Amino acid sequence: MSKTYTNKNFDKTNLDWSLIQSDLKIKLGIDVYESWIKKIELFEEFNNYILLAVPTRFIRDWITSRYLDQILQTIKKHKKEIIRIEFKITEKKENNFTDSIGQNKIGDVKNISFIKDSYLQYNRIDPNKRFENFLIGSSNKIAYEASSKVSENISYYNPLYVYGGVGLGKTHLLNAIGHEMNKNKKVMFISAERFMYQFVKSIKSNDMVKFKEYFRNTDVLIIDDIQFMNGKEAMQEEFFHTFNALLEKGSQIIVSADRPPNKLIRIQERIKSRFSGGLVVDIQKPEHDLRKKIINYKIDELTGLYSGKLNISEEIKDFISSKIKTNVRELVGAINRIVSFSRIYNKLPSLAETKVVLKDLLNLNENTVTIDGIQTIVCKFFKISKNEMLSSRRSRYLVRPRQTAIYLTKLLTTKSLPEIGREFSNRDHTTIIHSVKTIEQLKEKNPDMNDNINKLKNIILYNRENEI
Ligand code: ADP
Ligand code: MG
Repeated sequence: MSKTYTNKNFDKTNLDWSLIQSDLKIKLGIDVYESWIKKIELFEEFNNYILLAVPTRFIRDWITSRYLDQILQTIKKHKKEIIRIEFKITEKKENNFTDSIGQNKIGDVKNISFIKDSYLQYNRIDPNKRFENFLIGSSNKIAYEASSKVSENISYYNPLYVYGGVGLGKTHLLNAIGHEMNKNKKVMFISAERFMYQFVKSIKSNDMVKFKEYFRNTDVLIIDDIQFMNGKEAMQEEFFHTFNALLEKGSQIIVSADRPPNKLIRIQERIKSRFSGGLVVDIQKPEHDLRKKIINYKIDELTGLYSGKLNISEEIKDFISSKIKTNVRELVGAINRIVSFSRIYNKLPSLAETKVVLKDLLNLNENTVTIDGIQTIVCKFFKISKNEMLSSRRSRYLVRPRQTAIYLTKLLTTKSLPEIGREFSNRDHTTIIHSVKTIEQLKEKNPDMNDNINKLKNIILYNRENEI
C-alpha cells in the first residue's frame, strides 16, 4: 500500500507532497506535470532520502533521465537534508495505453477516434479554449488569422507553425483549431512529449504498426510544443515519415513551438526545413491594449460565474497590466487571485493588498517600495530636504509633503501605523492616521493634489514620470 502525505497530516517531519507537486507543476509546466509528475507518490520519507512510488519501470526511467535533478532541487527547498531520491515501482498492470486518462469528461468527442479506440487516451481538446474567447491584438493577430483560416479550409497553409514564448496563447490557438475541425474531421491533438512517450512505449511493446497506423490515419495532426521533440534518431525518422505521409494524403498539420523552426535544437534539418516550408507565424508579447482587454474580459468572465459584479478599479487594472507584460497565463492568474480575494474578504483589494496577493507573480519584494525610497522621491518632488521632512517643524511647505509621504507609505507598503510612525522620526500612530485622512480629503477636493499623488505613485511604483 502506498501512503501519501497530504496537507491534513502535515507536520514538521513530513514533507507536504502536494505542495512539492504544485511547485513542480509551475517549474516544469502543465504538460510535463500532467504526463509524469502527477503520477509520482511520496511513499516514505527518511532522514536524508525519500522513496517515491511510480506506477511503472518505464515512467521511473523517463523521470529519472529527464526530471530527477529538478525534482530533487524542489524537494530540497522543502527539506534541505534530502540528498537522494529512490523509486519504488507499484506496477499496476499496465496494459496497452489505458493507464493514462481513463474516462474523459469532454462532451463532443465523437470524432476523436483514439478516445473511442481507447488506444491513445491522452488527446484532450479543451472545450474552453476556442476562437471566440481568444482575444486579438496586434501581437497575435497574424497567428490568429492563420489559425482560423486553417480551421476553415484544409490545406490552406500546410503545415502551420505557430511559435512564441511561454503563456502567450499557442496551446489555446491549437486547441481552437482542434475544436473547430473536430466538428467534421478526425483530429489528433498531442503534445510532443506525449508523442515521444507513445513512440517509445510502442517500440517496447512491439506495437509500432498500430502506432504508425494510428498517426497516419488522422485528417488533422496537431502537435504542441514541438521543441520537446528532440529525441532519438529513430523517432525523428518515424515522425518525418508520418509527417510526409500525412502531407501527401492532404491532411493538415499544425505545430507549435517556443522558437522558430531554424532555432530548434536536436531536430533533423530536413524536419526543420519541412516546417519552414509551410506558414510560420509568431505570437509576440501582448501589447498594452491587449493586456487591458484580457484583464477586462477575464474579470467579466470570472465574475459572471458569481452573482455580483466586481468593480475592480482602473488603478488596479493598470497596475497589473504594467507589471505583467510578458505572459498571458500569469495575467489571467493574477486576475483569478484578485477575484478570489474579493470573494473571500468580501471587498475589493487595495493597491497594497493587490501587491501582497500577487507578490510572487510580480517579483516584488518589500524592497522595491521602501519607506526610505518614498521619502526620497517625495522630497525631491516638493524640493525639500530629507532633514526637513523628518524634522518636527510645522511650516506649511513641509507639512503637506510630509503628510503626502506618510499617505503614500500607508498606501503602497504593508507597513503598520506604528512602523510608519517610527520611520517618520518616531511620530505617534495617531499622527499617521491624521496625515492619511488629511491627504485623502484633500485629494477629493483638490484636483492638483490628486494629480500630484498620481504622479508620485507612478514614480514610486513604475519609476516613471508620466501616466501609465
Ligand atoms: P502557451 O501554450 O503559449 O504557453 P496558452 O495557450 O496555454 O499559452 O495560454 C496561457 C493562458 O492564457 C491560457 O489560459 C489561455 O487561455 C490564455 N490566453 C492566452 N492568450 C490569450 C488570448 N489572446 N485571449 C484569451 N486568453 C488567452
Ligand atoms: Mg502551451
